[in-house]
Amino acid sequence: MTCSEARQYIFAFLDNELDSALSLEVQQHIEHCALCARECEIEKIVRRQLAAKLKEAQALPEFDESALVRLLRSEPGALGRMSRTTRRYWKLGTAGALAAVLVLAASLFVVNSARKAQGVSLADVLVEDFDHFVTEAKPLQIVSADAKEVSEWLRERTALAVSVPSVDPAMASLMGGRKCKINGKPAAFAVYRIGNEMASLVALHESDEALVHMNRVERNGHTHWVDHCRGHTVLACRRGELIYAVISRLPEESLYALMQRTEG
Ligand SMILES: [Zn+2]
Repeated sequence: MTCSEARQYIFAFLDNELDSALSLEVQQHIEHCALCARECEIEKIVRRQLAAKLKEAQALPEFDESALVRLLRSEPGALGRMSRTTRRYWKLGTAGALAAVLVLAASLFVVNSARKAQGVSLADVLVEDFDHFVTEAKPLQIVSADAKEVSEWLRERTALAVSVPSVDPAMASLMGGRKCKINGKPAAFAVYRIGNEMASLVALHESDEALVHMNRVERNGHTHWVDHCRGHTVLACRRGELIYAVISRLPEESLYALMQRTEG
């Protein structure tokens, strides 16, 4: 199951509306995917808040319609931005609608601050992408051990000035590449085999802000950023406008060699 499929089913999953096979699939995806697990957690938080507010609202003496109108006028996009849960309560009628309006601002705030606090990092996203590549056996779009050929192919399709490092065949072998999207932006993805492990090298156009969650490491006069996430190492560096990141189950020591060659 892909992330987008899982996201599609999360609400029905939490509502116990899925058949058992599908429910199990979603459950298994969430157990292995930190990003979808977070989405699920956030939705649970919203639901808990909503349930608490509904309880409070039931104790209110009467429904203040003008407050509802004021809120909707001041927030024209508010209805569209409500979570599906909020919309569902909305349908319950005036008492539900009042409660939904009361919690709307609160739940949007909770979702936003939960997202910020959890700070889905670049490393998370890269590991997620790498995992999907490996577990879903996504095909390479160019199969070649020729770094120059893979670089040219990727430059043409991603419009990124990417240079895929050629490696000492005794150390690793280049398998090929594909273009992908990271955070909605085109990225270049090259795959290496190092011993029995895979390593991907992703080049993407990102600001330094994307690296702030990672540990800064100075090594041989170069700055690297390192992070570990779900059994994977992410080692990144900046080369001009691009960030290069190597993702692998191997420890970072085994990945520096690949990184240094991006300097060429
Ligand atoms: Zn997922």
